[in-house]
Amino acid sequence: MSAAPTPGVFAESAAPATAPVRRTSRRPLWIGLLVVVLALVPMLAGNFTVSLLNDIGIGALVALGLVLLTGIGGATSFGQAAFVGIAAYATAWLSTTQGMSPWIGLAFALALTGLSALAIGLLTLRLGGHFLPLSTIAWGLSIAMLFGNVDALGRHTGLSNIPPLTIGGLSLADPRSIYYLIWALVGLALLFSHNLLQSRPGRAIRSLRGGAILLASVGEDAYRVRLTLFVTAALFAGLAGWLYAHMNRFVSPSPFDVRASIEYLLMAVAGGLGHLAGALVGAALVLILKNGLQDVLPLLTQRAGQLEAVAFATLFILLLHFARGGLMGFVRRFTRKRAAAPPRELDTPVEPLPHRTLPERGTPILSVNGAVKRFGGLVAVNDVSFEVKAGEIMGLIGPNGAGKSTMFNLLTCTLPMTAGQVRFLGHDIAGMPQRKVARLGLARTFQHVKLRPHMTLLDNVALGAHSRTNAGVLKAGLRLDRAEERQILQEAQRQLDRIGLGDRAHELAGSLPLGTQRILEIARALAADPVLLVLDEPAAGLRRKEKMALGDLLRRLREEGVTILIVEHDMDFVMKLVDRLVVMNFGSKLVEGVPSSVRADERVQAAYLGSVV
Ligand code: ADP
Ligand code: MG
Repeated sequence: MSAAPTPGVFAESAAPATAPVRRTSRRPLWIGLLVVVLALVPMLAGNFTVSLLNDIGIGALVALGLVLLTGIGGATSFGQAAFVGIAAYATAWLSTTQGMSPWIGLAFALALTGLSALAIGLLTLRLGGHFLPLSTIAWGLSIAMLFGNVDALGRHTGLSNIPPLTIGGLSLADPRSIYYLIWALVGLALLFSHNLLQSRPGRAIRSLRGGAILLASVGEDAYRVRLTLFVTAALFAGLAGWLYAHMNRFVSPSPFDVRASIEYLLMAVAGGLGHLAGALVGAALVLILKNGLQDVLPLLTQRAGQLEAVAFATLFILLLHFARGGLMGFVRRFTRKRAAAPPRELDTPVEPLPHRTLPERGTPILSVNGAVKRFGGLVAVNDVSFEVKAGEIMGLIGPNGAGKSTMFNLLTCTLPMTAGQVRFLGHDIAGMPQRKVARLGLARTFQHVKLRPHMTLLDNVALGAHSRTNAGVLKAGLRLDRAEERQILQEAQRQLDRIGLGDRAHELAGSLPLGTQRILEIARALAADPVLLVLDEPAAGLRRKEKMALGDLLRRLREEGVTILIVEHDMDFVMKLVDRLVVMNFGSKLVEGVPSSVRADERVQAAYLGSVV
């Protein structure tokens, strides 16, 4: 029964660990080159090219929001042009009819866009499946219709004579001058988004596709994350709308209708929904193509407008069939590496995140009292009571269909109870949202692993520390969260070291074999600094050697004061590991006791263990 760390067992279980990628990537070189070229364009290119690039920059801002919202967050919006419109009309109205400065218009436009997004998001973001995209079409249509029917907004004629932007007396009326502002803002928005994704809120956003239960298990509310993301994406669109209004000096309803929204979505899809640079590439691709079509189609037919829509629809279908990752996804296929560079946040050791004080060994921390769960007529858990004491490993076993997983879901508050009580650390947790229970110090793993395969091991584990920290979108985007981020990532690295996966921290979680992914989930749970660790079948899918290492790991954790409740099928594994166990059969508790007495119990042998003992 060795208490020594057992690194290496999981580390060697898959492909050999790749050497960490050095930080000297070529990316800064490419970005630098792009910046230089973009800075030179207005001096070398003609009016047409400059105007086209201005449109591309504005389109890229909207598409960037969509890459975050749809590509990374998984919520499809067919109404993004409406936010562009709200901002454009807001600043147009304020600067024409009220004669205010466009800079006040910017504040007003962003405030109005943000509030509209908040209101729409509150109403629609709880809708699941196809209802969310459908609702985006509905509000996209209605907002565009609103612009065309309000007298103060000039109805279908719109608002004209919008003043140009000025910076310290310098007018940006010329496309060549506003060009620099547009592209500076595109650069800043890209930087903000890049920072955001490498942060605490960014990890939550990147986990949205993993489902609400995953986020709840680390103490976060998926709805809140989605709402914040929705507002952020709308603000990018709002910034674009403000630029649009003062660049064109004229607004009318049609550039903000659903057709325009679909065009923005097409930009994001064509460029690559999974990549920030996809927004830029996609906007360029779509707008250059659109310009080309507008030149060519009138030569072929008189119905050029309709043909353009057909051409775009065809492009959409081709993309969905052959290049779902968009152009960036295609490029990345040839450049993607197995491992990422270690983040700088790991370089200088910092003060660790504060720990909870663990309850004294032997005090009851979880007590289940008369738990009942009915699914219609079926009683899956029938009047089950038991207690878990601090510092022990408790097992919950039983034949298939005995109600173990249901019991697990009841005490982690993933499912509501029909009757009964669960107390955890003195709190009555029955009926509490799962994320609140998680924040009290109850960490869980999943029977069907819930990891983010395209995030590194380090990031997956860092997500576990979510509830111990609090940086938000703004702080992260402005990179003011680095002190906390260092603590989070170093904590994640410590937990990876603890389970023996430390030297694979920068590989993608999806590259691990299933058994090792289960171990990784334990590290994520540990990063929450839990009082009670609840594991659902952690040994499933592990090889013998891995099971032994897992057993050693769990014993080591017990020695460090972590309490563990383990739901398990593998009898041999459980019997050697646990201090006490509860046996369930047909939803009821059959026996409770130490392994030797349970093993000897005739009822248990009859129900379940007959063949094993
Ligand atoms: P175990 O994990 O011990 O194998 P479960 O808790 O998964 O058992 O299931 C206990 C019983 O409850 C089974 O008969 C199962 O079919 C039923 N059950 C589990 N979940 C649901 C559900 N969501 N709806 C209806 N019946 C369910
Ligand atoms: Mg089960």
